[in-house]
Amino acid sequence: MIWQKILLALFVGTGLGIILNLTGNQAIAGSIKLIGTAFVSAIKMIIVPLIFVSLVCGMTAMTDLSRMGRIGIKTVAFYLGTTAFAIIIGLLFGTLLQPGAGLNLTAAVTEAVPTGQSFGETVLGIIPVNPVAAAANGNVLQIIFFAIAFGLATNLAGDRGTPVRDLFEALNSVVISLAELVISAAPYGVFALMAWVAGTYGMDVLLPMSKVIFAVYIGCILHAVLVYGSLVAIIARLNPIRFFQGILEPQMVAFTSTSSSGTLPVTMAANSKNLGVDNKIASFTLPLGATINMDGTALYQGVTALFVAQAYGVDLTMGNHITIVLTATLASIGTAGVPGGGLIMLSLVLTSVGLPLEGIAIIAGIDRILDMARTTLNVTGDCACTVLIAKSEDELNLDTYNTPHAL
Ligand code: ASP
Repeated sequence: MIWQKILLALFVGTGLGIILNLTGNQAIAGSIKLIGTAFVSAIKMIIVPLIFVSLVCGMTAMTDLSRMGRIGIKTVAFYLGTTAFAIIIGLLFGTLLQPGAGLNLTAAVTEAVPTGQSFGETVLGIIPVNPVAAAANGNVLQIIFFAIAFGLATNLAGDRGTPVRDLFEALNSVVISLAELVISAAPYGVFALMAWVAGTYGMDVLLPMSKVIFAVYIGCILHAVLVYGSLVAIIARLNPIRFFQGILEPQMVAFTSTSSSGTLPVTMAANSKNLGVDNKIASFTLPLGATINMDGTALYQGVTALFVAQAYGVDLTMGNHITIVLTATLASIGTAGVPGGGLIMLSLVLTSVGLPLEGIAIIAGIDRILDMARTTLNVTGDCACTVLIAKSEDELNLDTYNTPHAL
């Protein structure tokens, strides 16, 4: 089965990487990365057609407008609520483990960085002036907007829209087959990316930062198990073990590729095939989640903000902590689901409470390792929301959910 192959590839790649690092062959690890890059490019290739086609299909299958509005509100509420919770977990572990204590760094006072677009501009920016440009630039929110409008219009066209509906259903089958084809190459991609990471980061880079790494990893694991596990078990009344089994493939691809947008085709396939979520729900919640729902990123920003404060000996007030919760929620929404996206947005969080931006340089040295954990949590959160909404809307096939099988 493919998940077993991916898991094996993950371990073998790590082993090879460690050997390459210990024997001073980092350059070979760098060349192996090319295979991983090819795999990631191949999954990125299908993102735009997959989001557009599956969301149009989802829309044409959903004719009840008030139901769509309800699903939208539930999804956004879930995404925001769990994100705020994730930062609190990050702040908790940053306080308990004191990852930056004793580093005694000094830095100049920071200047405020421009925050970029205003809220109004961001909201208006969701409407694509040119849908083709939105697709060409891979602007997911704009693609979602256009797909929803296009799907609704297909419904409004009544009988005359039927050929379009049929065409999109056929296209959907083709795009899904394409996604499966690319996913079958996942073991090679995962192997190469792990060999590269393990080969590049030696112990001398990792040891001084081990407390931050530990705080982020343990925070992510606990958030996944406690928050998502209990939401799935208590609210959706589903077996959480089946949930975690069913999303193993996207988790492994997220862990190695560090891109939740890039993992999207694998996430969509796992939700429909392993967990039995109907395309009507998954085609909306998953692309939206890959764009705005980043609990792992938010948790990481909580931990690293405290790390920087401790390392530079800055005392944060209760008000500062609340500011971090608010800015990290916004920063995580604004973070692109690409490798290292969260590191860039960390500047926003640090500036909001006057912490030195030099801290980013220290984190940057190990950011890939942290990115692996946070991207996995980001993807896990999207899946948890999808299962919850699907269950509440009666769009979850319980037989598929309860039957252990993988892609
Ligand atoms: N790499 C993360 C993701 O794709 C974003 C981040 O850097 O925090 O989900």
